[in-house]
Amino acid sequence: MSNRWNARRPAGRIAYVDGHYARHGEAGVHIEDRGLQLGDSVYEVCRIANGCLFDMEEHLDRLERSLCEIEMEMPMARTALKMVMAETVRRNGVRDGLLYLQVTRGALRRDHPIPQIAPKSTLILTVHAMDRGTIARRHVEGVAVITHRDERWARCDIKSTQLLANLLAKTAARRAGVFEAWLVDPDGFVTEGTSTNAWIVDDEGAVVTRELSSAILPGVTRRVVLEAAEAEHVTVVQRRFTPEEAISAREAFLTSATGGAVPVVMIDGHKVGDGRPGPVTGHIMELYNRYSRDRLA
Ligand code: PLP
Repeated sequence: MSNRWNARRPAGRIAYVDGHYARHGEAGVHIEDRGLQLGDSVYEVCRIANGCLFDMEEHLDRLERSLCEIEMEMPMARTALKMVMAETVRRNGVRDGLLYLQVTRGALRRDHPIPQIAPKSTLILTVHAMDRGTIARRHVEGVAVITHRDERWARCDIKSTQLLANLLAKTAARRAGVFEAWLVDPDGFVTEGTSTNAWIVDDEGAVVTRELSSAILPGVTRRVVLEAAEAEHVTVVQRRFTPEEAISAREAFLTSATGGAVPVVMIDGHKVGDGRPGPVTGHIMELYNRYSRDRLA
């Protein structure tokens, strides 16, 4: 198979699919796989730093929860899965990057209901290197976001691979020349970004993010930031906020495994604060990095 993707593939990239390590360009799944045909699958994205996986237990907790919500089991015991994840990272020789993990319900004749006798699930793991320079630049300069109607389904707490609404909103953001779209629910409140959680710093200096519900993904970085902030006595409030409140907030930032905490300096063309990354966000970025690094295996 030769395509544009393969042409750009670094030599030696390895994927893990269905019990085997294979060359990335040659790995594949069955055409009847329910992940491919019905979006019947869930996923995780973990950051690799210095060859180690950040926040691995939290990612596996969320994976287990997502699977449970769609009536599936973990593809293998957690210890075995951790070994496969680490081995996939090792075989790719990636020091800084991302590990993508997807579990689908497996291949079966196409039919919507969850099959009574479950086929063997498909486990897919890929790794890619990340340009730390780009991430570092975002941390220093901050990013801009637009707001966009939240058009997703009602179970955003499940990390499902059904991402059409997310990718349409992200495309709108990129066409507007900005990094992310903050999604807004029918009541006028920000839910989260298309692939990030949304945060502001209010007038009292408290760090604010939307409370967990089926309207948002329980971000792993969100969870770790909350734990780290609370441990360091930073005031954290979990509540909704509107785009207007975000625009007039002291600071704003977003979180994801890919970038950690990233300052948001502009929303819909309006500067947040003085339009530069603020001190509270800087403190959160530092706390998150320290807290995650301290727990590396
Ligand atoms: N919200 C959405 C919709 C996401 O897709 C993601 C990550 O992919 C996040 C938030 C951030 O989650 P995490 O911190 O686990 O990367």
